[in-house]
Amino acid sequence: MYPREIPPTAGLPLRAGDLLPRAVPSLLEAMAAQLQSPELLLTCSGTAAFSIALAALRERAPTRDVVVVPAYTCPLIAIAVHRLGLRLRVCDLAPDTFDMDRAALDASCREDTLAVVPTHLAGLVADTDGALRAASRCGAAVIEDAAQALGARESGRSVGLRGDAGFFSLAAGKGLSIFEGGLLVARDPGLQASMERIAGTLAPRSFAWELRRSAEVLGLAALYRPALFAFAHGNAMRAAIRHGDWEWALGDVFPADIPMHAVGRWRRMLGANAARRWPALLAQRRALARTRCARLARLQGLQVFGTGPDDEASWPFLLLRMPDRHRRDQALARLLPLRLGASRLFAHALPDYAYLAGRVPRTPTPHATDFAERTLTLSNSPWLREDQFETICNVLERSLQG
Ligand SMILES: *Cc1c(COP(=O)(O)O)cnc(C)c1O
Repeated sequence: MYPREIPPTAGLPLRAGDLLPRAVPSLLEAMAAQLQSPELLLTCSGTAAFSIALAALRERAPTRDVVVVPAYTCPLIAIAVHRLGLRLRVCDLAPDTFDMDRAALDASCREDTLAVVPTHLAGLVADTDGALRAASRCGAAVIEDAAQALGARESGRSVGLRGDAGFFSLAAGKGLSIFEGGLLVARDPGLQASMERIAGTLAPRSFAWELRRSAEVLGLAALYRPALFAFAHGNAMRAAIRHGDWEWALGDVFPADIPMHAVGRWRRMLGANAARRWPALLAQRRALARTRCARLARLQGLQVFGTGPDDEASWPFLLLRMPDRHRRDQALARLLPLRLGASRLFAHALPDYAYLAGRVPRTPTPHATDFAERTLTLSNSPWLREDQFETICNVLERSLQG
């Protein structure tokens, strides 16, 4: 059966067998082995992992309260910083990348800076070197946001392991998913121990949350399959876009409070079962991205974001930039009705979200604003057929011509 709708990201479908107990390594053992990482901590979301890392770092440096983040990132990052009573400093992007501008980053890092957050957007490898250098100059820590990059490697080594801490998201749509979850790692065993202790108090067991997440992951398991996916996602998204509300359509509007609770045993087991298929999906995503990026590279005027020769992205989707906003909007207007998984990443640069006023300083970040206005994403789902991808390329070509 062909899909009625292609999901915008290539998630790992769950199977009925995942719902049953089996003698497999635990989720944390399996992922630490796949990532070749030190001991991992399982959290109820990527945002919770980030919050726990910040809280642990803050204990070590109580006089520092500023967190430096790229101006184009997930709104949850800003909400988490505010929620902990810390201050956000947004750093503009360098032209032509999603990385923080190195000069702007150096200027953002001061004696008040607790942490710098290089962000591996779109499963691509970010400029961790620049962040490590700027942070070490001012004595700040580095937290690698690898929420979208589970499986990405820098010179053969998983991302997330070079900073003081790193985290991955197990949310629906990001790849391996238990509906909501996160993996947190620290380089230093002392920091790891603090994070574990803080998680115990900040994120206690909650029967109500676990019940809700268990129902949601069952829904995901039932609907994240080719024949049913339209009902799960696409229709609500298009309705929001018809009302001009990209923030809602992209799921960028989050409540002010961040759920903090432990992950229950059944969902951990489900994740452990699914984790066995994760390396195969990663390999498939890499192979698909290789041919799809090569095809896209033939389109004049289109920037296709990729990795350096020593790095391997995890390719949840493909990130593209058009020459201007008008052509980007035109391409999306043509692509959305086709239901082939074209979308956008975050609607705005952080300072441009009206609902985040008061939590994000209104620093002008022109490159990040421009990035939000000119980028779009294509699905890297294995459900997308070659002829459908060719249709997308033709639409892009027509839109690029203006
Ligand atoms: C999704 C995301 C997060 C938050 O992860 P959740 O698991 O959804 O809480 C943080 N940073 C980036 C870049 C993300 O894409």
